[in-house]
Amino acid sequence: MRGFGMHSVDNVGWLEKERPTIGPLDALVRPTIVAPCSSDTHVAHGGSGPKQNLILGHEAVGIVEEVGSEVTRFKPGELVAVPCVTPNWLSRGIQNFRSFSHDRGPSGSFKFVGQKDGVWGECFHVNQADPNLAHIPPDVAPEAALMTVDMMSTGFHGVELADIGIGEKVVVIGIGPVGLMAIAGAALRGASQIIAVGTRPAASRVAVAYGATEVISYKDGPLEQQVWDRTSGKGAHKVIVAGGDAATFAAAVRMTRPNGVISNVNFFDVNDAIHIAPLDWGLGMADKDIRGSFCPGGGKRVQRLINMIQYKRIDPMALISHRFHGFDKLPEAFELMDSKAPDLIKPIVYMD
Ligand code: NDP
Ligand code: ZN
Repeated sequence: MRGFGMHSVDNVGWLEKERPTIGPLDALVRPTIVAPCSSDTHVAHGGSGPKQNLILGHEAVGIVEEVGSEVTRFKPGELVAVPCVTPNWLSRGIQNFRSFSHDRGPSGSFKFVGQKDGVWGECFHVNQADPNLAHIPPDVAPEAALMTVDMMSTGFHGVELADIGIGEKVVVIGIGPVGLMAIAGAALRGASQIIAVGTRPAASRVAVAYGATEVISYKDGPLEQQVWDRTSGKGAHKVIVAGGDAATFAAAVRMTRPNGVISNVNFFDVNDAIHIAPLDWGLGMADKDIRGSFCPGGGKRVQRLINMIQYKRIDPMALISHRFHGFDKLPEAFELMDSKAPDLIKPIVYMD
């Protein structure tokens, strides 16, 4: 079968691969809509180490084509959302961690692209279909459901890790789709001031629509100073990092108050080194809590996020800035994601 992916680092293109086979607990899914992600471009450029001959993509909704003999909750022909993180629920490893994303090492439950071919093929393999897939009800648009599988799950996880309380002042660094969902999640959690950081005009407008009280630019001087200026010199209670580099992360620590939390969902390159001056971290004794994790996965997580759309707590459709039609448009959509056009938030590709 055909798929779009990486021949090697910095060398993307069409690949010819064997059609996957499934075990008794698994499913084969034909993607109907997929969404390229910043993480796909990071992987393609070697950000998670050298990889080759790998179909990319990890965000999909699709039609179940085939299920294993033990699968009971799903059958061929059904429309499903596929979490980008699909844990092996039989592993003892996931019982050791606070989140099911980690198994035999950090982010070990990230199977697509992380450990096997991704979803940009004619079909793809899903391990353990019953606990890992989610149905899409008829009153939820499949495109909206697609936004749950990584963007909503990750952005909201930034909020969960930050444990945002009613009335707290929050900074969200990054107004890409992940940061935008963190803004929406912070607003749902009852944050008061929400300072968003970014420059892209289209994303800035959506940030305000999702609840940002102001949008500041990292190009307008040191971020921590801008945040202190807007918080009576005190800094934020909680800072969610969904963009920037190692220096940005150090600034996030500086702008966080004592007893605050720095919650990271940003992807750092294997070669990044984060330097935090002891004073910025309260000489190590200011109860500034640094947390970072990976998108929570599994069918139940995504089903709950779909429920939020169904009951109109959130509408993630504003994330979708570009629509492509046809499997052959995957390279164009990938290129758009890679080049970060100024009007870009999230592209999607209708595969049919
Ligand atoms: P985007 O690239 O769309 O957005 C990044 C944002 O960061 C933009 O708003 C950008 O600003 C801003 N930014 C860039 N440079 C700086 C800087 N120096 N200081 C402050 N802000 C800056 O990314 P996504 O929203 O798609 O993803 C965000 C991050 O989350 C990525 O690293 C991605 O790999 C990671 N990710 C992590 C997951 C997880 O499970 N933990 C899952 C999915 C994604 P501007 O508006 O100017 O472009
Ligand atoms: Zn993603």
